[in-house]
Amino acid sequence: MSVKIALAGNPNSGKTTIFNALTGSSQHVGNWPGVTVEKKDGRLKGRPEVIIQDLPGIYSLSPYTLEEVVTRNYLVAEAPEAIINIVDASNLERNLYLTTQLLELGIPVVIALNMMDVVRKRGDKIDVNELAQQLGCPIVETAAISGDGLQQLISQACELAQAGQTRQIQPVFSKGLEATLVQLGELLAAEGQVKRPELTRWLAIKVFERDEKLLADLTLSEAAQQQLEKLTAACETELDDDSESIITNERYEYIASLLAKTAKKPDGGQLSISDKIDKVVTNRLLALPIFAAVMFVIYYVSITSVGTLLTDWANDGVFGDGWHLFGIGTEAYEAAAEIDPEADPAEFGVWVPGIPVLLEGVLDAVNCADWLKSLVLDGIVAGVGAVLGFLPQMMVLFIFLAILEDCGYMARVAFIMDRIFRRFGLSGKSFIPMLVATGCGVPGVMATRTIEKEADRKIAIVTTTFMPCGAKLPIIALIAGALFAESGWVAPVCYFIGIAAIILSGVILKKMRFFAGDPAPFVMELPSYHLPRVKSVLLTMWDRSKSFAKKAGTIILLSTIVIWFLSSYNFSMQAVETQDSMLADVGRTVAPVFAPLGWGDQWEAAVGTVTGLIAKENVVSTFGSLYAGLDEVSEDGNEFWSVVAAKYTPLAAFSFMLFNLLCAPCFAAIGAIRREMGSLRWTAFAVGYQCALAYASAMVFYQLGMLMHGGSFGLLSALSLILLAIFIWLLLRPEPKAKPTPVRAALEN
Ligand code: GDP
Ligand code: MG
Repeated sequence: MSVKIALAGNPNSGKTTIFNALTGSSQHVGNWPGVTVEKKDGRLKGRPEVIIQDLPGIYSLSPYTLEEVVTRNYLVAEAPEAIINIVDASNLERNLYLTTQLLELGIPVVIALNMMDVVRKRGDKIDVNELAQQLGCPIVETAAISGDGLQQLISQACELAQAGQTRQIQPVFSKGLEATLVQLGELLAAEGQVKRPELTRWLAIKVFERDEKLLADLTLSEAAQQQLEKLTAACETELDDDSESIITNERYEYIASLLAKTAKKPDGGQLSISDKIDKVVTNRLLALPIFAAVMFVIYYVSITSVGTLLTDWANDGVFGDGWHLFGIGTEAYEAAAEIDPEADPAEFGVWVPGIPVLLEGVLDAVNCADWLKSLVLDGIVAGVGAVLGFLPQMMVLFIFLAILEDCGYMARVAFIMDRIFRRFGLSGKSFIPMLVATGCGVPGVMATRTIEKEADRKIAIVTTTFMPCGAKLPIIALIAGALFAESGWVAPVCYFIGIAAIILSGVILKKMRFFAGDPAPFVMELPSYHLPRVKSVLLTMWDRSKSFAKKAGTIILLSTIVIWFLSSYNFSMQAVETQDSMLADVGRTVAPVFAPLGWGDQWEAAVGTVTGLIAKENVVSTFGSLYAGLDEVSEDGNEFWSVVAAKYTPLAAFSFMLFNLLCAPCFAAIGAIRREMGSLRWTAFAVGYQCALAYASAMVFYQLGMLMHGGSFGLLSALSLILLAIFIWLLLRPEPKAKPTPVRAALEN
């Protein structure tokens, strides 16, 4: 009679090494029926009646991947006589997660505590006897690579298989949950669904988790289904979480308590530096404030302090009108010149003309036509220069973001965000696209492909471009610089507005019937922290800056030429002042649409918003072209900034920025949305939702801001209050499905 022994474990735990050592050359390789997952079995060396079955490497027995489904179907249907669970002892916590699940299958398990050579070298101590006692199954220490312990392992497994004894089930979960599981088990048994009594507990857990694959295999009466759901929902209410999360959390809690009793790190339990940092950085209470602080500092430094220094230099010196002194500086020279008019400017540094001065000289020298001179100076240099002037700021920001990604912090943020997103019923994987979208929305939208669930993916596609991408930064920097000169909060606030818009939209959309349902959990390994590599940081920064500069030289250049043309001529093709141009005419027709947002009297803003659809940098380049000629206030530097500062109230400017942050992204990103959605209707939905949210937010912000600053209460104020109320209702209304709402006010604990 043959005996079947299965090898199960995480990927890279040493399964293949052990399998090869046990079976030698008697291997049979094929596929599991119907799927492309490799199936390998072989006969034990010296005992051909023992068949060793290698199973796919998996982290859990959930129904989310092919490998997991193959493994659990085999274990449940074939019921091998014993399981050898190969555990990577140098990674106990993660590996034991699968172990707790294998132990529920009612099949004898022996644990191969593999990689013990690594553990010993690290000086970690594992109390193997105590661990075996707690888990209720034998454990053999092995080092598969040298063959240590394998003989003992296989004889233990054969012994177990022959004895055929099932182990005493140990309670793993909290009392309330265990009680619910017993009730579920009894109900399932009464319904005749339990083929092997030792599987009762496993079935109960799966039913509790609402495991769709398993439920589909059961034949339950309507009444029984309702009773099962009632028991589950009651437990969810009591433990205040969704059932799948309850099981996951309690498993990890059990493992943590197990390890506290049995595993010791060297030096009295000292953690590695990486673990120590993570203890703080991913701490339930501190994680979010730390993340917020880090992002605040980064945006503050790159957009406001260091960034402004560089941008002022770029705007004043390189793209500014007039001559500029590099070295001790213009101010020092001017001070000296007051005292001694004969002072030699050359002693104060190198005098450099700004690009406009240089170009003007060149154009004059070649006797260039006036219209061409105007195109180059007022159109291209003013427009493209306005955008390129922000390049230094962006390079600083890109360097910071690249450092965070490279050192491993961003992986932690994804982990923290997963915890938060799942609270709101959203997929934690949506954070990866958000991260990518801080560079550019196009790859951001494409990055949603990692989200398996169609509904969750669609939500991510609709919301990802709310993040302030590289192209939106100049808008932020312009408004922050021109109107909020002293306050560094504007840029970080925009970043958090983006995140908030994504989370709040997610909550709202999730409550629409189409998007409902629980997201798949997100298993991720956190890499150890390491010092950022200069080369890869610079490469990332360079890549992003390059695409920014490239856009300035192509699409934005083209747009500024068109804008220059439209703003220099009227409909009868006569050269006119900007204020009388056809662009001004069209702008004035469109602008009233934005009146409720506070900037409807500025037709330039309406034009900027529309050109922003071509590329978001166009918002700023349009302002540059249209406002440059109007500068009467300041002679040096920040030419059009002072015009912007004079023409907008802070409230209107912020409303303008808010609208442009949230409204439909550029055409390239809309194209990406169209490709990823694969349907025009969904694309229309996405763009419509974005514009509606942008308009409503900007209007509510502006109108309520006016009210608070002593404005009178009018129709628009009332409308804004109603909009706000609708928004809050959409956020808080119960889910359409009859199950407890996953929306919870605060973090756990
Ligand atoms: P599988 O993915 O579970 O099949 O794992 P493999 O058998 O392919 O092993 C993964 C890696 O770990 C290989 O490089 C093995 O050489 C190595 N490995 C396996 N067992 C041990 C062990 O006990 N000690 C050490 N140091 N390395 C091992
Ligand atoms: Mg393998």
